[in-house]
Amino acid sequence: MSAMLQASGLTKEFKGFVAVNNVDLTVERGTIHALIGPNGAGKTTCFNLLTKFLQPTRGTITYDGRDITSMSAADIARLGLVRSFQISAVFDDLTVLENVRIAMQRRRGDSYDFWRSEVVLAQYDEEARGYVESVGLGDFLNHRAAELSYGRKRALEIATTLALEPEMLLLDEPMAGMAQADVDRISALIKRISEGRTILMVEHNLSVVADLSDRITVLARGEVLAEGDYDTVSKSPDVIDAYIGA
Ligand code: ADP
Repeated sequence: MSAMLQASGLTKEFKGFVAVNNVDLTVERGTIHALIGPNGAGKTTCFNLLTKFLQPTRGTITYDGRDITSMSAADIARLGLVRSFQISAVFDDLTVLENVRIAMQRRRGDSYDFWRSEVVLAQYDEEARGYVESVGLGDFLNHRAAELSYGRKRALEIATTLALEPEMLLLDEPMAGMAQADVDRISALIKRISEGRTILMVEHNLSVVADLSDRITVLARGEVLAEGDYDTVSKSPDVIDAYIGA
């Protein structure tokens, strides 16, 4: 095993309040790693630090052996570390296929070119169709994103993220607000797209965490409380205390 994403001494203070305190975290290559903890534990802050939406007060972050502590979110996305599940990344007025095509164009640094030849467009379409089918939306290619159910819209977000060809995906509460049928579908999808990739997710649904994660880091009050597989962390008295006391 080798480390894909590694944080060392990660600390974030907001006007003197320490939201994340000296966190060490290693996500091994090719694993699904979950970040859990009671409300206010510092999960979101930690996630925002790792995806460079926030700058740490102290500590370092390396990705694939490279120091990314001072890099921008856009720069790390170009290295293959991509954050998903931002619903705003999907354009409601465009079709499923068009949404994925735009993500591919973004990856290639292309601007949208109305006069592009049919042949080139057809090549984009074929690859885009592949991403759409891989998330189970093959029957919805020409539906506008606005017409999709919530769960299918999130599947479309995954398709647009896959179109960026990430090596590592950071998922922020992928199951939030979902009905059980969608939870099952997105769980299966995450399992499928984890092949050959590394995934770090913040997730509240503990049965999903138990089902999907190879490794779990539990945060409480900004600090790492426990780390290990689900059986290990769920038996930790500290973790039980933190959840019950929360
Ligand atoms: P979680 O995602 O685990 O619920 P957060 O990372 O959202 O926890 O928050 C951790 C703590 O940091 C909370 O006490 C929260 O109020 C505080 N916090 C988060 N963001 C800010 C901010 N921008 N300014 C001040 N305090 C913040």
